[in-house]
Amino acid sequence: MTVEHTFDAVIVGAGGAGLMAALHASQGTRVAVLSKMYPTRSHTGAAQGGVAAPLGNMEEDRWDWYMYDTVKGGDYLVDQDAAEILARESVETVFELEHMGLPFDRTPDGRIEQRRFGGHTREFGKSPVMRACKSADRTGHMILQTLFQNCIRRDVRFFDEFFVLDLILEGGAARGVVAVEIKTGELHIFRAKAVLLACGGFGRMYAVTSNAHSLTGDAVAAAYRRGLPLEDMEFFQFHPTGIYKMGILLSEAARSEGGILLNGAGERFMERCAPTLKDLAPRDMVSRFMFQEIRAGRGVGGKDYLHLDIRPETINRLGSAPGGRAVTAADLEAKLPDIIEMMRIYQGIDPMKAPVPIQPTAHYAMGGIPTDCDGRVLRAASGAAQAMENVHGLFAAGECACVSVHGANRLGTNSLVDLLVFGRRSGRALAEFCAGSALEALPAGAGQEAAGELIRLRESRGSERIGALRAAMQRCMTEHVGVQRIARGLEKALQTLRELKARYGKIGLADLGRKWNTEILEAYELGGLLDLAEVTAASALHRTESRGAHFREDHPRRDDSNWLTHTLARRKEGSCASLVTDGILFDRRPVVITRFAPEVREY
Ligand SMILES: Cc1cc2nc3c(=O)[nH]c(=O)nc-3n(C[C@H](O)[C@H](O)[C@H](O)COP(=O)(O)OP(=O)(O)OC[C@H]3O[C@@H](n4cnc5c(N)ncnc54)[C@H](O)[C@@H]3O)c2cc1C
Repeated sequence: MTVEHTFDAVIVGAGGAGLMAALHASQGTRVAVLSKMYPTRSHTGAAQGGVAAPLGNMEEDRWDWYMYDTVKGGDYLVDQDAAEILARESVETVFELEHMGLPFDRTPDGRIEQRRFGGHTREFGKSPVMRACKSADRTGHMILQTLFQNCIRRDVRFFDEFFVLDLILEGGAARGVVAVEIKTGELHIFRAKAVLLACGGFGRMYAVTSNAHSLTGDAVAAAYRRGLPLEDMEFFQFHPTGIYKMGILLSEAARSEGGILLNGAGERFMERCAPTLKDLAPRDMVSRFMFQEIRAGRGVGGKDYLHLDIRPETINRLGSAPGGRAVTAADLEAKLPDIIEMMRIYQGIDPMKAPVPIQPTAHYAMGGIPTDCDGRVLRAASGAAQAMENVHGLFAAGECACVSVHGANRLGTNSLVDLLVFGRRSGRALAEFCAGSALEALPAGAGQEAAGELIRLRESRGSERIGALRAAMQRCMTEHVGVQRIARGLEKALQTLRELKARYGKIGLADLGRKWNTEILEAYELGGLLDLAEVTAASALHRTESRGAHFREDHPRRDDSNWLTHTLARRKEGSCASLVTDGILFDRRPVVITRFAPEVREY
């Protein structure tokens, strides 16, 4: 049986982006928020370090310095109209959250306290600046709780533990979504004037990742399978400090508070690699230098990891804390409570007494569903080269979207602010759209393909197992589509991923039930991840230059004359019912450059 619901707007995802959009769309609009998890378990709640805004509470700061850092951090692939909006509106958005009740850390005189973060500078790159607003190392948790409480206050309607399978599109317009209620296994169709996708990232295509198990990019894959383009998918960020082998994140906040990176010889190698910002250079550069240290045999004990040292004696000896001040163990425990606990629990090491083993971990998707600065989803317009048009009634925000404000590499603390600034703008645009449009009938057969795919999965009795296929995909991505890439590795990855897709057609599930059948949903997630992994690898092979997080050993230089452009990957026409696809088409979209011409990137 299929249950039908009607709303003005449906939002897929209850992380920071979905909730901020819901809050701003809900005035005068009937909004439903669907989430495959209970909202406050969304990954936004795991964000540790902070949210950027040039408040200037600790030292002078300006929005144009911030915009410059974002553009340069993104290796000039950032759309500068979006970066200007981010830099200007970040200030009022942080104040909006403060007024909603978010418990930010305070300076002694009661203002929001700020800390340094990688790539954030004053006076266009001269020295680090304190720009990250924070709540100890639980900033995302506080943002998520604050937004959720305010959504409840505004009577936003939540459908928790509803897994969205597919988008309903008709003639280039959104008509709703198809979801399965996890508790019952029943299918639900949500009919709406507009749909906003805010399903978060998809780091789970990698073996070593900071991302939660839920980050499988389901709606990104659904949009792709429905023929929409994905932008800049070759740019996947690796965060320098993941717990060795586990990938669990140790926030950059550890280095903001004075922590340093050491190679096997005990050398602070970042002094050599980025003389001005050192350990707080942007993540793409730090991860790459780490990779090179390890490859040159300078890992700890010659192995594939390095050390993060946050011992107070080290920080004080080097004067690496902000302003060169002296720190005590008690200061660090107060500022970094969660990550210090994680080191103790997961690594069994007391970071006050010994350095901890770390390695780069797959962290953040810069690419995703292309949107304009109000969250409207874009696709290539037919006829005119490189021109884009809106997909009527379809919006996207947060990590699954590509505004593109992060370009080729996102700066730390710039995702949370992206969720807030563009979540708010897309929520408002969504409400405006709904006010001016009528509810259309559902197209004939809406939801049937998703239902058919579920039945296919439920009845599949093949010999392939989801766990084995997923592990093979993750290993392949980590090995060949990681911090450094090369054509032959990427070709190998594509071949492996295509073989895995073929094997995916022969899976067999052990759980035949309907209620709480999470195995079938994992199978669905894996199908989407395989598609996204393939697009990521193909996009990385397509871009024959190095920029930001995309480093090609066989094309080690940035090539502005050929590649100062966004890529759009689109699947060749074919049936949406089958997850097994082959051909990918590439288009281009110009980068918006307003204030800052591309320069050599040095830190
Ligand atoms: C460990 C960690 C630390 C981080 N620290 C920082 C930081 O300090 N500062 C910073 O700026 N950024 C940080 N980031 C990045 C930032 O937290 C994320 O990019 C951001 O929170 C993503 O928010 P979102 O709203 O787009 O998605 P999420 O918060 O990931 O939420 C996704 C939502 O989509 C729902 N969903 C997904 N698929 C489906 C489906 N099929 N059906 C229904 N619902 C679905 C989920 O239930 C969830 O509610 C960090 C990331 C990680 C992993």
